[in-house]
Amino acid sequence: MAKKKAEEITENVNVNENINIENLQEQPIEHTGSNDTIEEQTIAKKLLSLHNIQQICSKIDQIRVIRGELPNEVRDLEDAHEGMLTRISKYKEDVQDLEQRITNQDLKIKESIALIKRYEEQQNNVRNNREYDSLTKEIEFQKLEIQVAEKHKTRFAAEIVTKGEEIAQFETKLEEIADILQQKKNELDDIIADTEKEEKELMEKYDLYKKNVDQRLLVAFERIRKNARNGLAIVQIDREACGGCFSMIPPQRQLDIRLHKKIIVCEACGRIFIDKQLVENQGPEA
Ligand SMILES: [Zn+2]
Repeated sequence: MAKKKAEEITENVNVNENINIENLQEQPIEHTGSNDTIEEQTIAKKLLSLHNIQQICSKIDQIRVIRGELPNEVRDLEDAHEGMLTRISKYKEDVQDLEQRITNQDLKIKESIALIKRYEEQQNNVRNNREYDSLTKEIEFQKLEIQVAEKHKTRFAAEIVTKGEEIAQFETKLEEIADILQQKKNELDDIIADTEKEEKELMEKYDLYKKNVDQRLLVAFERIRKNARNGLAIVQIDREACGGCFSMIPPQRQLDIRLHKKIIVCEACGRIFIDKQLVENQGPEA
């Protein structure tokens, strides 16, 4: 895999070098002083056309990167919203469960009260003390049962209050998330609409500029761009180094680039060089 990549890059460099030669051969062979000037201007024009196309392509790349991240942001918020809804509904189920348990304790208490009432009536009709004492024990047992049930009820009621407070907090949080989500959705809709319009305009501009560029040069440019991680096919020298791969460029080569008598590519990455001065003289474009 790595070997194949290396071969592709080598191929790119070769293609570009071929183009250098071909481009030079296009020019008049007799090199008089004035012809050199024309040639310089032609190369400069070609480089500037490529530079302008590069500016457009980089803007399109940037738009696509930004738009690529936007849906993720909204999806994260939608997940958070959904998660909060699930949590609230789970807590509401818990509250219902606790209410049911309180109702069950109430039923138990009612049963105990009914039993006590019955035992007390039976005590009026006992035949001996033993029967009376036995019923007294039953009554005391039922009274204890009522106390236990009351304790459970108090505990469940306290849990309901706690859950209710937590639900209120979750609902506040849910509202916040829903607000941000709506805001972001609107924002993103606007951005998508804007970038789509901007992208379309840039694409149209790209098609227009493309017509003014040497076809072989354009093919090489697009091939380099496809393989370059940062999408740059034409670069300037920055602090003595290639603006694409940061390899150091020897002073003589830097001079050749400044003279722009021919198209020069980076020996390390195959990117086409354009002189900084040339770009600056052109002024803002694209
Ligand atoms: Zn380079």
